[in-house]
Amino acid sequence: FENLLTFHHQMEAVSHIAAGVAHELRNPLSVIRGFLQLAQLTNDHQKYYDTIMSEMNRMNGILEDFLSVSRKKMERRWQSPSHIMNSLVEIMKAECLLHDVEFQLNLTETNQQVYVNESMVKQVMLNLLRNSVEAFGESNSNRHLNITTTIEAENYIIEVKDNGKGMPDSVLKQLGKPFFTTKERGTGIGIPLCKKIIEDHGGSFRVNSAYSIGTTVIVSLPLGR
Ligand code: ADP
Ligand code: MG
Repeated sequence: FENLLTFHHQMEAVSHIAAGVAHELRNPLSVIRGFLQLAQLTNDHQKYYDTIMSEMNRMNGILEDFLSVSRKKMERRWQSPSHIMNSLVEIMKAECLLHDVEFQLNLTETNQQVYVNESMVKQVMLNLLRNSVEAFGESNSNRHLNITTTIEAENYIIEVKDNGKGMPDSVLKQLGKPFFTTKERGTGIGIPLCKKIIEDHGGSFRVNSAYSIGTTVIVSLPLGR
């Protein structure tokens, strides 16, 4: 009986997640379909490609996030943190260029390593990048994203700082709750997932934000070896 109950709950969770995924993917899919139709009707294809590309990236991000919620094992290896950050530079630059954001990266080099699942750490960084890019209102023409890494007490610290719209206390209070979102097209799994991934690595995840000033997310990962 107990097993049946567990099974029932699991199925309920699965169908909840499946409904969430389907709902989230329908949106970008219909945008892509619409833009492909528009591109077919005109000769000016180029201007539709950026949107199609960014919607596809969006879908990819959503799928990655949902998948990793259900992923059980986390294979970790010793890795150079600078190597991980450097492997993200191009995609970050591209995303910032696309959204008119001035991107600055200040890396601290170190010979020490972090014990991580590289793709999960990248997923955290991409989620934070996406949130920052989404935090710039239409009117904000002075958009800055700064990523700074430092070393403090045997920890590798990654600071992701934007001057986007920031969060009022009401949002900050709810931050980290699964499915909490203020966006029309949000999933609300980005921040809780980032926090879980970093904490599963023995690190810490903190958010500082001031409404209409900006947000800084501070990720800390233990260094070793
Ligand atoms: P989603 O991005 O799908 O809404 P997240 O878990 O990534 O879900 O974020 C939850 C909420 O936290 C967002 O809806 C937004 O209100 C707020 N938030 C997260 N990052 C930022 C940021 N950099 N600037 C302002 N608000 C943010
Ligand atoms: Mg998000």
